[in-house]
Amino acid sequence: RHMRSLILIGHGSHLNGESATAVYRYADLIRERGLYDEVIEGYWKEEPSLRQVLRTTASTDVTVIPMFISEGYFTEVVIPRELGLGHQGPVPPGGVARVIGGRTVRYTLPYGVHPSMTDVILARAREALADFNPQDTALIVLGHGTTRNENSNRVIYHNADLIRQAGHFAQVEALFLDEDPKVGTWPERITAPRVVVVPFFASEGWHTLETIPEDMGLTGDVTSFRENPHGQQTVYYARPVGTHPAVADVILHLAQEASGALAQDGDVERGHEYAWQAVLERARRGLRMGELVITPDSGVYEIRHMLDEGRPGGDLRTLVTPEGVRDTVRRDDGGDHRPVHTLRNLPRGWRAVLSEADLRRALHYVYPAVVEETYAHSCHALRATPWPTTARRQTGIYTRVQKATPEQVEHVAGEVCKSCLRTRLWAGEKLAHTFLDGVPGGIPCAEACTVLVAEVREEVSGKRGQAGG
Ligand code: SF4
Repeated sequence: RHMRSLILIGHGSHLNGESATAVYRYADLIRERGLYDEVIEGYWKEEPSLRQVLRTTASTDVTVIPMFISEGYFTEVVIPRELGLGHQGPVPPGGVARVIGGRTVRYTLPYGVHPSMTDVILARAREALADFNPQDTALIVLGHGTTRNENSNRVIYHNADLIRQAGHFAQVEALFLDEDPKVGTWPERITAPRVVVVPFFASEGWHTLETIPEDMGLTGDVTSFRENPHGQQTVYYARPVGTHPAVADVILHLAQEASGALAQDGDVERGHEYAWQAVLERARRGLRMGELVITPDSGVYEIRHMLDEGRPGGDLRTLVTPEGVRDTVRRDDGGDHRPVHTLRNLPRGWRAVLSEADLRRALHYVYPAVVEETYAHSCHALRATPWPTTARRQTGIYTRVQKATPEQVEHVAGEVCKSCLRTRLWAGEKLAHTFLDGVPGGIPCAEACTVLVAEVREEVSGKRGQAGG
């Protein structure tokens, strides 16, 4: 049987959990359709990281979709580089396909540039309009606009052209938040009595909730579709395209179109399977992994926090799905986001009862990439990445971590990593025994994580410690 994996890539954030939510939601929607053996999420600023995510896929046939609304630095440079695709720059329409470590990996364009996004724009417009009368209604397709990447504007113009040609509206304009033609000029441009505005944005946020309504001179409730009388014209403000459920179909189109490149019969990836069999074999006898205790119980498994061991099941919240586990372990007991899951702040107060197949998925969510990396380490096949290499790959405001002295990095790591289960192989530390040999906290760290990079940046900027570290 042909086995296939799908990876959805998001930016993620080490500060808040909202950024990853859209990616999770689409992964869930696609998973429900059962077209792929697995749908995995990967992030730049969360786990599994872009550097780890390929290793976590179970098959040799992998399609990777960047969950971005437009092309740009992340889709053209960062993601291909971190995945090891050996490609930089604009991605051709058919995507990029490579064989990496025994896996066939197909990398596509971001979903936002796919032709079927036109349908998503129309769907958003129809939702916002109480009734649909193309004769007296104008459409504004609203883009962010940036001087850095012309491609992101091209897709806005292209969609506006297509919809205009189809004659769905009395008038169609492409306007932008940050460049000409600016969205604030709409009263001069739109003559129709009614206008619907569809933000071509990835998610609801500061821009869609505040900047755009403000620039357009809209007032009133901005959290949902609304009607705002503006002089003689009525404005209907739609929700952003990026959160529409139909984006799941766009993702599947993209994946489908990419599947022709380097076609092969997907199979079980052997290294991955060995790693999981090693863990499951131990789990069948009861296993401690990080802060987790796994207990077999007549054909199913129970997992819970080690510190909740012995508590009556009735005292704990019982979870029965891997997604339930995922949503629980994304925050610590104080409600804070956990971008790095091996920090010793796994929340307590829950237990999950799972089948063996679901146990695999749940462990992936509790400790992303830990099974694969630990197994690789035990086979002497985990390569550590020294700090200077990690520092060189940082982008934007994080590029300045390259200025950190080895002493500064060591100082920050001493504080940050002491709260972490992992052992820093990248700093030359040795890890002789892992959770596979009965040492629950024995987990390797092959490369500095997003939290450490952020803290080093604070240190270099002289901000660290000022607000309590
Ligand atoms: Fe843990 Fe430190 Fe490695 Fe981050 S860099 S994963 S905190 S050991």
